[in-house]
Amino acid sequence: MLLTEQAPATPKNTLGCVLVVEDEAIIQEAIALSLREEGYSVLLAEDGYSALQVAKTAARLDLVILDVMLPSINGLDFCRILRHEGNNVPVLMISARGNESDRIVGLEVGADDYLSKPFGMRELVARCRALLRRSRRDFVATNATVYKFGDIIMYPDECRVTINETEINLSPKEFRLLDLFMSHPRRVWSREQLLEKVWGVDFVGDSKTVDVHIRWLREKIEVDPSDPKHIVTVRGFGYRLG
Ligand code: CA
Repeated sequence: MLLTEQAPATPKNTLGCVLVVEDEAIIQEAIALSLREEGYSVLLAEDGYSALQVAKTAARLDLVILDVMLPSINGLDFCRILRHEGNNVPVLMISARGNESDRIVGLEVGADDYLSKPFGMRELVARCRALLRRSRRDFVATNATVYKFGDIIMYPDECRVTINETEINLSPKEFRLLDLFMSHPRRVWSREQLLEKVWGVDFVGDSKTVDVHIRWLREKIEVDPSDPKHIVTVRGFGYRLG
């Protein structure tokens, strides 16, 4: 059986989406509660097979908390299959069998960290945070389609932007504007070019639309929107980044 649950759409839940795979209801609930309180979205599965379905279909998955002893497909096999399919989502394995060889097997099948039951929820949350931080850093280091400008990091494939490691919410138009700037630093764009690239050639309206969206974007990414340092106005021409 599979249950999915999404935290309410507050800015806090952008911290990440965690799949909790655990067949013991009390432990599953306790983990889910702690994660939601920390601001994560939580997906739940009670056996390995359902968990694989969630891992394949979830719109977003940043971390898996995985019990070893599970019905249908156990945690070790789940992890093997996941890695075999090329899914590199971080996995935190949890098990009542806390001896050294179990830990080693867990790490060998592709888990990123291992925690023995019983554990405190604060420790679990701290480990989750560390894994998520690490995977984001690795992503920045290895993926060519990440743009960096000062403190701004843009992950175009994930439609995600962070400033000083805090995620910001952009509208689709703001995102596409910033994407254009970040992928062409210091290039000057005229209002007409921005209209065509972001709104499309069929857009009926004038270039003031661009100014309005630039203002909104500046309010989200500039320290002082009235004195922008990132998206600057090039008088008589348009805008550029940097
Ligand atoms: Ca179990």
